[in-house]
Amino acid sequence: MTRPKILIIYTGGTIGMIEDPTTHALRPFDFSHLIENVPKVKMLDYSIDNYQFKNPIDSSNMNFEHWRDIASIIERNYNLYDGFVVLHGTDTMAYTASALTFMLENLDKPVIITGSQLPIGEVRTDGEENLITALQIAASRRPDGRSTVREVAILFEDYLWRGCRATKRSADNFNAFQSNNYPALAHVGLDIDYDYEALAHKETTGSLKVNYGMDPNVIELTLNPGLNASFLNHALNAPGLKGVILRSYGAGNAPDTEWFNKALSEAIERGIVILNVTQCVHGPVRAGRYLAGEKLLDMGVISGHDITFEAAITKMMHLFGQNIPIEEVRQKLTRPMAGEMTIR
Ligand code: ASP
Repeated sequence: MTRPKILIIYTGGTIGMIEDPTTHALRPFDFSHLIENVPKVKMLDYSIDNYQFKNPIDSSNMNFEHWRDIASIIERNYNLYDGFVVLHGTDTMAYTASALTFMLENLDKPVIITGSQLPIGEVRTDGEENLITALQIAASRRPDGRSTVREVAILFEDYLWRGCRATKRSADNFNAFQSNNYPALAHVGLDIDYDYEALAHKETTGSLKVNYGMDPNVIELTLNPGLNASFLNHALNAPGLKGVILRSYGAGNAPDTEWFNKALSEAIERGIVILNVTQCVHGPVRAGRYLAGEKLLDMGVISGHDITFEAAITKMMHLFGQNIPIEEVRQKLTRPMAGEMTIR
């Protein structure tokens, strides 16, 4: 087998940050500083190139223009590399991983996203280990020569997660990510133990197709007892609104009051698509289990099953960005497109 060729795409995030000497706040810094701090990378027998964002960002500034940039770098370099490692801030990493999953259709190579909780220049940094493991995963091949991972995934500390199934769970633990409804794709210990059952098995039928369209005319509405009717109506009547992620209670339940039902059904009649995603970190929406949830289904609210919020909102942005009829958007929300949910 030939020497693996990997492209590192550096977008910013804590991994490459340094402390501002005056304010002591962390700010993004350039790639050469980052790589200088990981001399061990040279011990890997890989051919590694890098591409850095002109202005590396804190990932709280991430938006769909950046997603397009990352997707376009991957598209332009797709045939030149065996795998891609994206260095990214942790705050919105799960959103980027989900968005890229929907944007990169027919992906047949690893896109491994990682970052760190402590900057790479700090003595106790988790960045060095994360970067090296991400490179090893991006370079890993099966006996038939194909990449072991052929999807977008997040590598963080001890685990590799499916990108569109992961959520940031901790602001300070080194194991910052988790999939609450899907197993880890790999466990990182003495070895990198892949779960071949959990990894994507799709047989890609065509070459990579990048769907650049992303429509941000979507919002989320989280239910809480005492929700204000006029605020809800205001949000549902926002000009340009196309889709809503409704973060419901438990197994997908919502209040069964007249004003609430009216607000939602009127919005659906106006063509707004509503996807029901539970506020619980674990377990799916089971529309119809309770009367309070059945009502939503009858009105035309779509069940999001066990999808994460990050995957739900980026899937909606992606679907509305494809200029397809609204019925097709609704249809595609009911089914998994890239392993983002399981229908029981
Ligand atoms: N604020 C940082 C970011 O998301 C946090 C991190 O990287 O861990 O860019």
